[in-house]
This record gives sequence, C-alpha cells and structure tokens, in this order.
Amino acid sequence: MSAGGGDAQDRVHVLRLPGTQERLRCSGCGNLTRFDVTRTRRTREFWQVGLGGEPEVGDVTRLNERVEQIACRWCGRSDAIEVVARMDVDPASDPTGTDAP
Ligand SMILES: [Zn+2]
Repeated sequence: MSAGGGDAQDRVHVLRLPGTQERLRCSGCGNLTRFDVTRTRRTREFWQVGLGGEPEVGDVTRLNERVEQIACRWCGRSDAIEVVARMDVDPASDPTGTDAP
C-alpha cells in the first residue's frame, strides 16, 4: 500500500473540530484523547456587573472561530490529525490509555 495521492479521502491537514458524532484521531500514533488545539475565538459576552463592581459573564456569543493548529500531545505531530466517526474507532487502540501513569 502506498501512502498519499489517489485515495478518495485524503483527510490529512483537516483543520476543523469534530462534530457530535466525530472525534479527533492522530494517524501517526493512534492517539484519540490528547490534543493541543490552537484556536482564535472572537466572542461577545454579556457582562452583568454587580454593585460591588464584580463582573459576572452571562451569555457568550461566538462571532467567529478559527482553528489554527491541532497537534498530537503524544507524538507531537500536527500533520497527521484527522477527524473520524466515533463509531469507527477502537478506544483500546489509544496509546495514552495503557501507558499513562
Ligand atoms: Zn500522535
């Protein structure tokens, strides 16, 4: 099996966050649970300030969000992260579950 090119689904470098039926997976090491997600968010917050001056953040409206990088905490790769369907993965294959202290 040759890697790269030709395949119908080339999911490398997909910079999006998984939906409710999806999850992240590192195709480099099989990590399913530990990622560094770097993202920029622009939000509008409703602040309610009490008489004492202490603000309390109420509703947060997300105006914009951009995922800049997703990196694997386990092997460090950021070019091997893919979004897969949750039902397609075997949690037992995750290397962090067995080796973690
Ligand atoms: Zn990895």
